[in-house]
Amino acid sequence: MDNRLIFEKSDSGRKASYIKKPGISLREPKEILPENYLRSNLELPSLGELEVVRHYTNLSKRNFSLDTNFYPLGSCTMKYNPKINEELSSLEGFLNIHPYQNEACLQGALELIYNLEKLLSEITGMPRFSFQASSGAQGELTGMLMVRKYHKVMKNRKRKVIVPDSSHGTNPATSSMCGYETVVVESNKDGLIDLDKLNKAVDAETAAIMLTNPNTLGLFEENILDVAEIIHRNGGLLYYDGANFNPLLGITTPRLMGFDVIHLNLHKTFSTPHGCGGPGAGAVGVVDKLSDFLPAPVIDKKKNKFYFNYKIKHSIGKVRAFYGNFSVLVRAYAYLLRLGREGVVRVAQNATLNANYIREKLKDDYNVASNKPSMHEVVFSCTKQKEKGAPAFDIAKRLIDYGMHPPTMYFPLIVKEALMVEPTETESRKTLDYFVESMLEINNEITENAQMLHDAPHTTPVKRVDEVRAARNPDLRWHPNK
Ligand SMILES: *Cc1c(COP(=O)(O)O)cnc(C)c1O
Repeated sequence: MDNRLIFEKSDSGRKASYIKKPGISLREPKEILPENYLRSNLELPSLGELEVVRHYTNLSKRNFSLDTNFYPLGSCTMKYNPKINEELSSLEGFLNIHPYQNEACLQGALELIYNLEKLLSEITGMPRFSFQASSGAQGELTGMLMVRKYHKVMKNRKRKVIVPDSSHGTNPATSSMCGYETVVVESNKDGLIDLDKLNKAVDAETAAIMLTNPNTLGLFEENILDVAEIIHRNGGLLYYDGANFNPLLGITTPRLMGFDVIHLNLHKTFSTPHGCGGPGAGAVGVVDKLSDFLPAPVIDKKKNKFYFNYKIKHSIGKVRAFYGNFSVLVRAYAYLLRLGREGVVRVAQNATLNANYIREKLKDDYNVASNKPSMHEVVFSCTKQKEKGAPAFDIAKRLIDYGMHPPTMYFPLIVKEALMVEPTETESRKTLDYFVESMLEINNEITENAQMLHDAPHTTPVKRVDEVRAARNPDLRWHPNK
């Protein structure tokens, strides 16, 4: 494998052929640009067309993606993103519009957002939505800023936000960013909310609880109605982190569970290629009593015309420029229309079936974090494997050699040696079987040669990188003398 940078492959005098368009005479840069904008020496690589094609095609083959391999990254819902969504979001009328155009020329786009809101309302029971937030995390911030403003307007003296110890890191982070004290409630031995401990933690100063259901262990919070009752009795609100909504689509709603404000990760549940930071959309939905607090504007309809409605009595204002990641909304809308009511339910059922299939096939060899049945993801605890000499980290790295993306590791924090597997509904039984067989094989490898696992992966251009340094201090420069 040729690991050289394109600069290192450069060969003076080589270039791609270039066909001039007839009738257009090109002018030299110095004829049109002021002198101080011209560079005398720009070290661009010189290569022939075929060399450039090979360079980038080979690079693209090193990219791990959902389109190439199984990607069971728990909590991230890496489901297949139908290509028709990409085509539809690239239609001229969606692609070549600008938020500064006036409403009259944006009617189609506004109608799409309006209709998407209606569909999500039906799916979640929440009557109103904002689509400004660009991610789940930003959706949480948006929702909790609304909670804070609600309590302020109602003159409720609130100081604390409750999160379970299994919560996603963005939940306590959001609570802190909103100026609340975060109170962590320990889970019970089944991995669910402990009602006694919750009762002790809640008081008149409780502003809200932030929960995801199913929780990060992939378990349905069976006592959710009791939780809602406890929080509401104390004048608090329930925030639903909808990142795990996939297995409940069309089956129940956060509204029925007693939640007041929610976000959905449209890029996860409703399919947009995501990862490495974007693009995403955190749709924030609210019950009626919070709709006066939504970010402005929302999209409304009057006399068959769609318009931006800025008249929101207690709006928290804007949470980003313009109206949100529009192309993600197009994908989510296309995805929903294509599935229809029955398809949406099958998504939930198959996601749950697939996770439990893996759980059943592996549970004799790998400990499972809880004895309760799983929803869309299953958390293994690789303590037996660690004792034999290979911690969860080594198993995850070894899976790369088998051609699969590692599951989420060491999350949730309350599970020792956690591997969190979310197969999603879009994988075939064959793929699930391959994953299961590979995990069993790796378990055997530990006994035979634990050191080999410790050195994995063996098939990638780089082996084990210092992950903190690689993320914080990446070396992306060209070193001409190296
Ligand atoms: C992914 C996720 C989030 C954050 O969503 P982003 O879109 O990545 O910001 C929050 N909570 C849970 C449970 C998640 O899985």
